[in-house]
Amino acid sequence: MYNVPADFINEAKVWETLEHNKNPEPAQIREVLAKAAGMKGLNLADVAILTSISDPEMLAELFNTANTVKETIYGKRLVLFAPLYISNLCANECLYCAFRATNKEIDRHALSQEHIARETEVLINQGHKRVLLVAGESYPKKGFDYVLESIRSVYSVKNEHGEIRRVNINVAPLTVDEFKQVKAEGIGTYQIFQETYHRETYQKVHVGGKKRDYNWRVWALHRAMEAGIDDVGIGVLFGLFDYRFEIMAMMQHIFELEEKFGVGPHTISVPRMEPATNSDIASHPPFPVSDIDFRKIVAILRLAVPYTGIIMSTRETAKMRRDTFALGVSQISAGSKTNPGGYEEDDAISGQFSLGDHRPLDEVIRDVASMGYIPSFCTACYRMGRTGQDFMDLAKPGDIRLHCGPNGLSSFKEYLQNYASPETREIGDKLIHETIAGLTGVAKQRAEKLVNRVKAGRDDVYC
Ligand code: SAM
Ligand code: SF4
Repeated sequence: MYNVPADFINEAKVWETLEHNKNPEPAQIREVLAKAAGMKGLNLADVAILTSISDPEMLAELFNTANTVKETIYGKRLVLFAPLYISNLCANECLYCAFRATNKEIDRHALSQEHIARETEVLINQGHKRVLLVAGESYPKKGFDYVLESIRSVYSVKNEHGEIRRVNINVAPLTVDEFKQVKAEGIGTYQIFQETYHRETYQKVHVGGKKRDYNWRVWALHRAMEAGIDDVGIGVLFGLFDYRFEIMAMMQHIFELEEKFGVGPHTISVPRMEPATNSDIASHPPFPVSDIDFRKIVAILRLAVPYTGIIMSTRETAKMRRDTFALGVSQISAGSKTNPGGYEEDDAISGQFSLGDHRPLDEVIRDVASMGYIPSFCTACYRMGRTGQDFMDLAKPGDIRLHCGPNGLSSFKEYLQNYASPETREIGDKLIHETIAGLTGVAKQRAEKLVNRVKAGRDDVYC
């Protein structure tokens, strides 16, 4: 049914490349950073060299280069979304996750479609436009149709406050046929994390259920793309194994997707393991990633795949999230709950893992805007068919500025006008004004036009 080439995720090559580049001279590091500044991405040896940086001076140069690339490509935009956990039923035994089958210490729920609609309504009323639908790997009676119905339920809710305009999903690997079905429901990104690319560790931490099959999981994004899903999201659960190995192996995965489909992943997620109810390993990760290494990971990924979005979830603290905006993060979740039904009524104990950032959306927006970042709720690209290769073609610095910049500003204005608290509105309006004043040419004209339309009472305007 699936044919994973034997040398796909070539562990020997990863170790060899790391070993060969483990003590780079400053001149070598600077050479890689100079190449990275050209924003054309990096090869495996380049990435290995960057993972070897420990000297504070070199680290500062890495961070500065990542910051320049991030700002050149993405400007000050940060895309916002909320996860929507629809079920914590699961037949797998991932030792790090509270949802694992044998964990008796959490309450199990698979939300009804009515309940999903109510959760969606809470998110809409807060101002969200993008949702990431998340589930454990076991569905109620209807089986996989439950996921299809749930996507439909989210899109079906429209009230006087708005609607969700893009549903991304993070659910267990599907068959090509199932991927075609979720595509037909209009999903944006299909996201799946390999957790660890190290096969031996993978077997040790996935002790039961279908998820034990490494190849089935690692080939999921191939099946998704084969089914016509252009935007796929990749990731590693940091803490399970050596982060240097994981970044290198994930790069192999990315290169393979690029080679086969002409386009790599749309996003990379960088979840770091957090404590989870009744999980030893989650509280004591075998390969803990320090805060400084975590920042390094984000900066390296920004340089290695400059046009791929980097997602930072609320697993991390507000401070860490702030620090990584400058290093390459382009999307963040906000106001998240990881327990099914948690938006309507919170029950922290049934969550998947503990969160580092509990602030409500409005507070996150205020904070982000105070730092000079434009929170964007834009969903234009996907709705205009600018996905996959088309998105990557567009994602050249100048072009992004002409589309995403103005769209980000108009979607932010829509948020401020319809949902924000007075304090957030004041800070946000000032930022929009200053940002537009700093623009020139077509970007300025477009931004002014779109924002003025929102001011005149129109919602959902974009170019
Ligand atoms: N059940 C599906 C799966 O495993 O692919 C999809 C959803 S799962 C709820 C989403 C992700 O949560 C997992 O891929 C894993 O990386 C992450 N996760 C699980 N336990 C975690 C923990 N203790 N800390 C941080 N992230 C965790
Ligand atoms: Fe289930 Fe996913 Fe948690 Fe594993 S990570 S136990 S598959 S919900």
